[in-house]
Amino acid sequence: MSNRRNITFSVLGGGGEVGASCFKVGFNGYQLLLDCGTHPKKEGYEALPEFSLLNRAPDALLVSHGHVDHCGSMPYLLRQFPGVTSYATLPTARIMDRMLHNSVTVMEIMAKERGIQEYPLFDHEDVGYSMRRVECVDFELPFRLGADQEIEVTFHHSGHVLGSASVLMRIPGHTILYTGDICETDQELMGGYTPIDEKIEVDTLVIESTQGAADETSVYPYFQESLRLGEYIRRVLKGGGCVLLPSFALGRTQEVLNIVARLQEERLIPEVPVYASGLGRAIYEVYNRFQEYLAPDAELRPLEQFGRIGNVFDPGVVERLLSEPSILVATSGMMMENTPSALIAQEMVKYNHHGIFFVGYVDQDTLGYRLLNANPGDRLQFALGHPAVEIKLENIRRLHFSAHASRKALRKIIERIKPKNVVYVHGDPDALAWMRENTGNGFRSYVPGIGQHLTLEA
Ligand SMILES: [Zn+2]
Ligand SMILES: [Zn+2]
Repeated sequence: MSNRRNITFSVLGGGGEVGASCFKVGFNGYQLLLDCGTHPKKEGYEALPEFSLLNRAPDALLVSHGHVDHCGSMPYLLRQFPGVTSYATLPTARIMDRMLHNSVTVMEIMAKERGIQEYPLFDHEDVGYSMRRVECVDFELPFRLGADQEIEVTFHHSGHVLGSASVLMRIPGHTILYTGDICETDQELMGGYTPIDEKIEVDTLVIESTQGAADETSVYPYFQESLRLGEYIRRVLKGGGCVLLPSFALGRTQEVLNIVARLQEERLIPEVPVYASGLGRAIYEVYNRFQEYLAPDAELRPLEQFGRIGNVFDPGVVERLLSEPSILVATSGMMMENTPSALIAQEMVKYNHHGIFFVGYVDQDTLGYRLLNANPGDRLQFALGHPAVEIKLENIRRLHFSAHASRKALRKIIERIKPKNVVYVHGDPDALAWMRENTGNGFRSYVPGIGQHLTLEA
């Protein structure tokens, strides 16, 4: 049998890619799951982690934060294994509740409109049940798990979105730190991550690698980007147009609404109405409820300050929104088809006085990417069953706000912690390759793919 200080680490998802993050840590017969996401670019069963690698119910699930690539398949897991207890910070639990109910609604629509047989993969009752199985834990407060309570777990503030955590697991003879999604710099609302105590000896570091392929020239200081955004917005509004800012519902929407509010208060942009879409507003309520988890100097404006976008599928709604200068913050961030941002863009691109500014990552296989790279005269389809629209709008740009640590900061984390094993996850292949090559030596390094099992020595 293996050494008592060794642990096993298996990848069910989120290895070799940014996908359905889900990792299994095995120790002395005990099985712990880290995250339980869905793949942001896949559909149906394909979007789930490789749950076939679970030979029995995991003993516990630790959820790092509320983005669906980290928690989206939790109700599905609970359907198979109803006894599993999950652990998350209180804000993450509240956010998950909203995100997962929204997932059910989206899956139901997709089942109807796109004929995806297996949708929904779980229903509202499953979400309700799995939320009752969440134990809320607070940052920096260790709690115990395991048959003999021999594992000590601590959630550390990771600076990514409200409630997001890095997870420290002190298994007898083997300490693991899972960064989750982590950010070192202050954003408009979130403060950077809290480093763990230097005295803690970490044997294995499981580190996200999202920005591994972004060199120093593509790291954009957050505050400067906000000023650039202000300049773009100002020009459009002065010309009588409207501004669309496609934004992820969790994190970027709340950040961007408050950036826009600050720019207005500082008179850098005109005081036009600002609108936000449904899920972003629902998450905003959680931000409001848990303001103590934001940066100490963060100023979260009241949600009532921002109007409702309403149902963009209802006739006339988008035309009304665009009838006078305004700023629209709408999901989805990468402008997936049939989402509020796509439906608004569909109308905007017919004119040349508006502006569409992406404020985060835009994947190559998305409508947002095609729109960013479209030339006037090209035609794009924004929603199922709607005809393709000719693009007349030229003012379509991308800004680079990030809630992920730069690769320099990731390297610093490794240098500071000096682990014996580094497991690189949550990155595109080129990002993972750069990380493995350039983040130091003197430790064993691993870039496991889905289905891979590692035995890690302490
Ligand atoms: Zn995330
Ligand atoms: Zn993620």
